[in-house]
Amino acid sequence: MEATRIDLEQNDIPTHWYNVVADMKNPPAPPLGPDGQPVAPERMLAIFPGAILEQEMSAERWIPIPQEVREIYRLWRPSPLVRAVRLEQALGTPAKIFYKFEGCSPAGSHKPNSAVPQAFYNKQAGIKRLTTETGAGQWGSSIAFAGQMFGLPVRVYMVNVSYQQKPFRRSMMQTWGAEVYASPSQLTQTGRDALAKDPNNPGSLGLAISEAVEEAAGRPDTNYTLGSVLNHVLLHQTIIGLEAKKQFDKIGLYPDVILGPCGGGSSFGGIAFPFLADQAAGEKRAEKLRCVAVEPTSCPTLTQGAYAYDYGDASGFTPLMKMYTLGHDFMPPGIHAGGLRYHGDSPLVSQLFHEGRVEAVAVPQLATFEAGTLFAKAEGVIPAPESCHAIRAAIDEALKCKATGEPKVILFNLTGHGHFDMAAYDRYFAGELDDYAYPREAVEASLQHLPQVG
Ligand SMILES: *Cc1c(COP(=O)(O)O)cnc(C)c1O
Repeated sequence: MEATRIDLEQNDIPTHWYNVVADMKNPPAPPLGPDGQPVAPERMLAIFPGAILEQEMSAERWIPIPQEVREIYRLWRPSPLVRAVRLEQALGTPAKIFYKFEGCSPAGSHKPNSAVPQAFYNKQAGIKRLTTETGAGQWGSSIAFAGQMFGLPVRVYMVNVSYQQKPFRRSMMQTWGAEVYASPSQLTQTGRDALAKDPNNPGSLGLAISEAVEEAAGRPDTNYTLGSVLNHVLLHQTIIGLEAKKQFDKIGLYPDVILGPCGGGSSFGGIAFPFLADQAAGEKRAEKLRCVAVEPTSCPTLTQGAYAYDYGDASGFTPLMKMYTLGHDFMPPGIHAGGLRYHGDSPLVSQLFHEGRVEAVAVPQLATFEAGTLFAKAEGVIPAPESCHAIRAAIDEALKCKATGEPKVILFNLTGHGHFDMAAYDRYFAGELDDYAYPREAVEASLQHLPQVG
């Protein structure tokens, strides 16, 4: 019998993260301040510890994973690589479909892979408290868990609408000891100003970021944490791809195509970058490998956006980053993959896409839920709506193989389970969800407001 689940031993947990910057054709474009000049790293020390800033700017290929972090990773890592045999049968495809399952972490997604080292480096730097923002609640619960592991109190600014609509994500954070406030809140100047204008402000990720950063910048004992987009977050997530490579080695296979959902780019970079290292090293087995970022048609950052300097948040509070963007004032419509609603993308993923080393595809909402439901029926796991995007694209690849008869090896990142997203599945079953392609004119209009640089 061929193995359907490829497991590693705890001692196989990688000892180093992989930094793709070492293998990029061009150095990454630096973040810029409002004056158009590169941001001085010292300015960022008000909100990040030195070790994280070093990782953010590092060009070293391998970065050691602290022992304390590996010990906590052991609670759920190495994560399984699973062959989706029943899905292959349901599709009647000659392709071999594999998924790397990140839903077995305490928070139920890949996000603790970065939350744990972020909490560790802050603790080591003598920081006493952490702040963050959360939209759908995945990142907030991950950092609440990680803070608790190192005895660091965490304050989460949760976008007001999610705070009302996702009470169980909030209870999870509280179970791990975090304080959770609906944003905008009375705790910061940003929040008070927003509430003075509109006491019923539903909140936004941009506002919540501004509140969390304002608090961290104003208190020397407090730092800020971010769950995606930045280089150090993608670095931490490479644990996913590094393990997957060991798992494929064990069965003597190598993927032809790797697919991952892409919001801020951390899980996609995490699974794909270690394989790009093989390509950069000129390895024959990696020659034909394709890595594809999968995004929603309602928030088509890579497939429709511009490659330009833009703010990371809606209020223009953060430094300017060079990335694919739909414009920082882009307003995504009501889509259910909360983690894929970001207007921008990781600068590293953006640059690799620009240089043609990774691809991107956009998929519509109904087809993603259809794919997720088919997957759950075949394989058992109920995927997060974000993960359903990768499943949709993996199924499409497998159906192409069915047409051509090619037995390709397909790998996708199953970034999380969907246990807290059943309301979205309910709406899908009730026929209440729509397909929505963000209109080209609306993208153009939003891109008119990009900040002028240089
Ligand atoms: C946050 C999230 C994503 C998207 O974020 P990336 O940084 O692009 O990985 C995808 N899947 C799940 C389950 C998430 O929680």
